[in-house]
Amino acid sequence: MLRAMSEVNVKAGIECILKRIEEAYARRPVEHVKMAKPLLVAVSKTKPVEMIIEAYTAGQRHFGENYVQELVEKAQHPDILQHCPEIKWHFIGHLQNNKINKILKLPNLYMIQTVDSEKLATGLDSAWGKIQGDDKTPLSVLIQVNTSGEEAKNGVQPKGLMTIGAFGFDYTSGPNPDFISLMNVHRLIFEENALEPHAVQVSMGMSDDFEKAIEAGSTIVRVGSAIFGFRPKKTA
Ligand SMILES: *Cc1c(COP(=O)(O)O)cnc(C)c1O
Repeated sequence: MLRAMSEVNVKAGIECILKRIEEAYARRPVEHVKMAKPLLVAVSKTKPVEMIIEAYTAGQRHFGENYVQELVEKAQHPDILQHCPEIKWHFIGHLQNNKINKILKLPNLYMIQTVDSEKLATGLDSAWGKIQGDDKTPLSVLIQVNTSGEEAKNGVQPKGLMTIGAFGFDYTSGPNPDFISLMNVHRLIFEENALEPHAVQVSMGMSDDFEKAIEAGSTIVRVGSAIFGFRPKKTA
């Protein structure tokens, strides 16, 4: 197990993904050229702190985790605090209201990508207000849209959108309907709020489909296994 892990070259992985992001960005069709250049979030879930430090040393700053407890441990880990002072954590998993404070108090928390209910948005808003005190820096959040049907809830002011999308989509049958669907929600939001398209972030695309997502307009890709290697399936 340890041997297999050390065979993954994290630095080469990061460089390769950044190059593929550039290439996909250059291929982006004209209707999406106004969208921002994509940001790479390296998804380090289940992977050890040493690999995060390796990626950080290679220049990577944005990291994503999707289990609350794992992010709590990694964000406060003494080696991370010492070696990765400018790390930016993205929470990309399901967040329950009773875990809000655990997450918001973490050092170097950058963004919560998975606000999926009005209740969670309200809870985050009031908890952040108490934690921040007089410093009114807003918390960065994305609204997680269930692109297979459910509409984004009212009452939230999204800075952007996120979707996970269907697993294992077959691109020989055409463009990914989840990506099209999220870009449609994106258009609704920037048009209704009289914003520029690039003012509203779109987080979509993972190891298997980030290039397709970028071509469709994605501005944040979340890539895990293509950088850090295979992850064994979680056994419940
Ligand atoms: C695990 C995870 C990813 C990364 O998946 P890979 O296929 O390993 O790139 C991206 N987004 C979310 C929400 C995840 O949970």
